[in-house]
Amino acid sequence: MSSAEREPSLTPGLYIVATPIGNLGDITMRAADVLARCDAIACEDTRVTAKLLKHLGIRKSLWRYDDHSNEKDRARLLELMRNQAIALVSDAGTPLISDPGYRLVRDAREEGIAITSLPGASAAIVGLTLSGLPNDRFLFAGFLPVKEKARGDVLAELAAIPATLIFYETAPRLARSLEAIDAVLPGREVAVARELTKLHEECRTGSPAELIAYYEAHPPRGEIVLLVAPPGEDMGQGVDADALLLAALEHDKPSQAAAQVAKATGLDRKILYARAMELKSL
Ligand code: SAM
Repeated sequence: MSSAEREPSLTPGLYIVATPIGNLGDITMRAADVLARCDAIACEDTRVTAKLLKHLGIRKSLWRYDDHSNEKDRARLLELMRNQAIALVSDAGTPLISDPGYRLVRDAREEGIAITSLPGASAAIVGLTLSGLPNDRFLFAGFLPVKEKARGDVLAELAAIPATLIFYETAPRLARSLEAIDAVLPGREVAVARELTKLHEECRTGSPAELIAYYEAHPPRGEIVLLVAPPGEDMGQGVDADALLLAALEHDKPSQAAAQVAKATGLDRKILYARAMELKSL
């Protein structure tokens, strides 16, 4: 059998291909097949993708497509996709998820190019499933801003959303993010999912304060997904609103304490205000 018979060519278009987030065994059979049969691969870092291809025994021409790619780079790839099967991969996980590709997909759709997406690993989902936090609703929020004020603003904006929050994080920034969560979303359960699918995989849960103390003593390494339980979840499962109100009342007026606890928990501000008044008069 000739190699052409063994590997019929793919229909031209864009193939979005998820790759492993650490453990190379997590490549799907379909991903390996498409990477073997496509005409070329658009990737973030050719060295990283070359390593994966070597593991799979595949040789293929690689086109760099990253955050610095411009209209011209996109136009060249779109032109190729008219007659060739082009796979898009990122360094790890699912392309476009905090990774390049959004504009390429948008433009390919506008130009009527065939597109398909091959599912596979994404750190956000692996972290969510491992965390034990509620997963009926979740909100993926990418990386928190680096600047303190912007970070606090984003957390305040997300505070009342009734869903588990998922953030991507880096080891050097973990402590600052936990401190911000402690300040803006006190009382929430947090999970730190680290080095997923790798040798030193761990998932540690606790209050922001507990996790700050732990990682101060054990500085984290590697890649991290940070997850925050939905508002009200803590209250329903034993953390009581009175404790949060009493803590807030030490510094704030009942109205401010109620607003702060409402923001952190998603509970009704008026009910919290009434309770804060009762607690103050005890
Ligand atoms: N597209 C990727 C995906 O689908 O997961 C994410 C790319 S984003 C640039 C990189 C971030 O993903 C890391 O900073 C980390 O927050 C998270 N991440 C990737 N691999 C991870 C792993 N093995 N364990 C924990 N977090 C990981």
